[in-house]
Amino acid sequence: MTTLAIVGGDCLRPDGTVERADVLIDKSTGEILEIGEDFSADETLEATDCLVTPGFVNGHTHVAMTLLRGYADDKPLDAWLSEDIWPAEAALSAEDVRAGTELGLLEFIKGGVTGFADMYFEVSEIAAAVEEAGLRARLGHGIVTVGKDEADARADAQESLDVAREFDGAADGRISTAFMPHSLTTVSQEILEEFVPKARADGIPVHYHANETTDEVHPVVEAQGVRPLEYADDVGMLEPDDFVAHGVHLNEREIELLAETGTGVIHCPASNMKLASGMAPIQELLDAGATVGLGTDGAASNNDLSMLDEARDAAMLGKLAANDASAVPAEAVVEMLTRGSADAIGLESGRLEVGGVADLAVIDLEAPHLTPRHDLVSHLTYAAAASDVRHTICDGQVLMRDRVVQTLDEAAVRRRATEHAAAVLERVA
Ligand SMILES: [Zn+2]
Repeated sequence: MTTLAIVGGDCLRPDGTVERADVLIDKSTGEILEIGEDFSADETLEATDCLVTPGFVNGHTHVAMTLLRGYADDKPLDAWLSEDIWPAEAALSAEDVRAGTELGLLEFIKGGVTGFADMYFEVSEIAAAVEEAGLRARLGHGIVTVGKDEADARADAQESLDVAREFDGAADGRISTAFMPHSLTTVSQEILEEFVPKARADGIPVHYHANETTDEVHPVVEAQGVRPLEYADDVGMLEPDDFVAHGVHLNEREIELLAETGTGVIHCPASNMKLASGMAPIQELLDAGATVGLGTDGAASNNDLSMLDEARDAAMLGKLAANDASAVPAEAVVEMLTRGSADAIGLESGRLEVGGVADLAVIDLEAPHLTPRHDLVSHLTYAAAASDVRHTICDGQVLMRDRVVQTLDEAAVRRRATEHAAAVLERVA
């Protein structure tokens, strides 16, 4: 057994309390062995004047979209997708996806993110990058069938199923997968009815965008005569391991359905604000007992991948949506940022406790914007920034030590991403 001790810091425990304690980790199993004091270990991470928290979990993203960061801004979702994003994505090669993914994973590690769920294509490249970077992820191939003939539509869905089967358990078990129809309006009913049961038979969960804009709600109501999530329930897409992104335009029955079925909801406040999609009813979802996590969505609609920014946005937008300053309080946000997202997407992380997986972020509190330290849960939600993260640990391995990423060459990753992004735009022009 090789051990790692994080010493000198304050620990954020699952009950929301903060206590002065060291953390002893078994590097070979990636498990938290003890939380206490005076451990002798093979390796030490210094955490004096730091807060040790569960690693942040980004519950919904398209990580390779970092290449399109700042490429097309200030447009509504449908025009942004059809005029800018989909044409650019059609020009992306496997090598581009790899370069964009590595850039996103670098940003994750620097911002204390240890796990994420990703919907994209060229998933073998994404899986290889995740293995190299040392993160934990649930990956899948996104299906779009609109504008495709039946053979192409079925091939796209089959690829999503094949990819989910192939990569489940990859990277020593750090990679899990899901079947990923893009949304209820961009994938046909025939495809959902044929393929969702196949995924289910293999124990593969389903992840999709739902009720993001009113343009995603009305066509379903018109075609099916029921609300989108009632339709999703009818085609078997609301099960305890499933999770939806956004959930902005939900009625009471849909909120109930999400809570009753245990389907996770990933709130993406920055993306919802930037695309003017609307305000998700987060306090109502929490009151109903739904499992709610946080996600950045892709970097093209955010435009960064900072989960601490997302936390602050979730608190702010939640209050505005509820017209109530006590709605979506800091404790609820920190829970969404860590175990809410982990539970929603089915990762074993999000808790700093003995026997738990050692997926951790160590936040440096020696900063003017984190002084004084009345309430560290408040600071995590409202004041901390990605650049305050000092160390990042995933599965017991140190991915970043003293702000230096250990598993990726930062300068090389940034250079490659810059080159690939320029080449993509040249091909689209
Ligand atoms: Zn998305």
